[in-house]
Amino acid sequence: MKIKWKQVRIGAHLYRLEIENGLFTKVEQDNTRLAMGEKGWNADGLLYMPTLSDMHCHLDKHFIGEMWKSRKAIDSLPNHLRREKELLTSLQGSVLERARTLLNLMLSCGTTNIRTHVDIDPMIGLKHLEAVLQVKEEFKGKMEFEIVAFPQQGLLRSGSSEVMREAMRLGADLVGAVDPGGLDHKIEACLDEVFGLATTFNKGVDIHLHDPGHLGVYTIDRMIDCAEQANLQGQVAVGHAYCLGQITEAESMELGMRLREQGVSIISNVPIDRPMPNVPKLATLGVDVRLGTDNILDSWSPFGDGDMLKRTSRLAERFGWIEDKQLLDSYQFTTKKSLVPKVGDLADFLLVSAMNLEHAVAAAPPREFVVVGGKPVYERDETVSLKPAY
Ligand SMILES: [Zn+2]
Repeated sequence: MKIKWKQVRIGAHLYRLEIENGLFTKVEQDNTRLAMGEKGWNADGLLYMPTLSDMHCHLDKHFIGEMWKSRKAIDSLPNHLRREKELLTSLQGSVLERARTLLNLMLSCGTTNIRTHVDIDPMIGLKHLEAVLQVKEEFKGKMEFEIVAFPQQGLLRSGSSEVMREAMRLGADLVGAVDPGGLDHKIEACLDEVFGLATTFNKGVDIHLHDPGHLGVYTIDRMIDCAEQANLQGQVAVGHAYCLGQITEAESMELGMRLREQGVSIISNVPIDRPMPNVPKLATLGVDVRLGTDNILDSWSPFGDGDMLKRTSRLAERFGWIEDKQLLDSYQFTTKKSLVPKVGDLADFLLVSAMNLEHAVAAAPPREFVVVGGKPVYERDETVSLKPAY
């Protein structure tokens, strides 16, 4: 069945988009609206944007839809982990319900591709993973998923190796861990276990790394060695990697070259309260850098809203990208899709009210439509979406 969108703004002109089997079959300049009885949608001049990826989130940890939880600054990671356990067990909604809620929120922001970490430990077992695998089925065709089995309490510290093995058998896509030095206190042993699991089950690796300065740098260096030894080029990621923002530029560049050579990615949540990796320098070196939202109203932070366009905007603002090219280049960190649709591309896109793509990344306007496979999966408000664009 052919799906039509008319008056979609791309650059300075209006276009007609035609879609069959989820792919664009026609992208043509056309000012006209749908004729009487013609099926499809009029975009009325709203701006075309590609859908976005959130490469670091936790579907099982947020408190959206729950009663307010007061937070206190906590002095150490182990104390925080204890507090998080208490808060998570006090929630009313099930993991399944909360994962659904967050996925719908993300979809309404235009995210159609996520990598979620899912807590795994001997107490939780596979309960969170089972729920997330269920929502993955429910959102098939709307949201692409990668699932990281995540021993939040420390892989070795919590004795989670066996349950991690079960998680990989059940369908997790990547092996996770957290601070092999700062939390597990055994960098080599932790990495041996992580990469051993990845090799056994033929999966990727994605490790949360908050460890600062040279402790973090040493861990990344060892991760790169492990990626090389296990032949996992292109399948290993370091989450956060705050340490890369705490060393000299020369050290950071040296490590950047190694990251690129072994295809080890950096995934940042773009913190505004601490140092972070130098994204423009790493990207110039050819390192794969991606972004994620991470904390969304959870035990760690009352902030976060799951909006990847806002996160892209924050990245641009944090690095002072004000020129047009810089603003446009910032999309490379949140979408691999083309900024301009072409025949044969997947018809997954957003429509927003903005002057152009540069303005859209700076202003992060509300999403009027989110479209997957040519069909709207979210529409903000008919009366708003019918307003002319700027
Ligand atoms: Zn995280």
